[in-house]
Amino acid sequence: MALKLESGARLVVATHNPGKAVELAAILENRFTLVTAGELRLAEPDETETTFAGNALLKARAAAQASGLIALADDSGLSAAALDGAPGIFSARWAGPTKDFSQAMAKVEERLEESGSEDASCWFTCALAVAWPDGPAVVVEGKIDGTLTFPGRGTRGFGYDPIFTPLGHDQTFGEMEPLAKDAMSHRALAFAKLKAALF
Ligand code: IMP
Repeated sequence: MALKLESGARLVVATHNPGKAVELAAILENRFTLVTAGELRLAEPDETETTFAGNALLKARAAAQASGLIALADDSGLSAAALDGAPGIFSARWAGPTKDFSQAMAKVEERLEESGSEDASCWFTCALAVAWPDGPAVVVEGKIDGTLTFPGRGTRGFGYDPIFTPLGHDQTFGEMEPLAKDAMSHRALAFAKLKAALF
């Protein structure tokens, strides 16, 4: 069966963050009516899978089954080569309950020093999953390579942006024009793949 998304469809976004839903609506060119899992008071499933794609799929499936709507979910994070891919799927969790990313970035620096490795290569991954209530699903992944940069620079963006310098660039994601980041990011690449697969 070819899975296609028709314009005007009602989608549930598996997030409790209203900002994320607005951002996703814009990326999806406002083709769909979006509601969030938070608005529908759906329970947030535990992210028990071991990969970005696995967790995105788990969240999309849970939201689709609970709501009876087509569901979209994402999972993303930063991976460092010298840390065997950490923080990876634990990127949000490294920031602790207060979501303190200066703490999370300091932890990356500390672990890198402890590893004794000179390898500062890293990458951001974004997995996007769309699940239908009756079972079928599509998962795609976007990835961008970069270099860990200490001390971090820039006050734009969010999360680990200040310590990520994309390959071929001098500015960190934290210093870059948001539009420049958005054009090349792991999220943009994943959405391009999703659109190619579903529209
Ligand atoms: P999620 O929302 O559970 O997928 O968590 C993703 C985590 O990865 C976030 O808390 C961010 O800190 C981090 N992350 C993902 N994408 C980016 C990005 O583009 N810039 C900086 N940090 C990111």
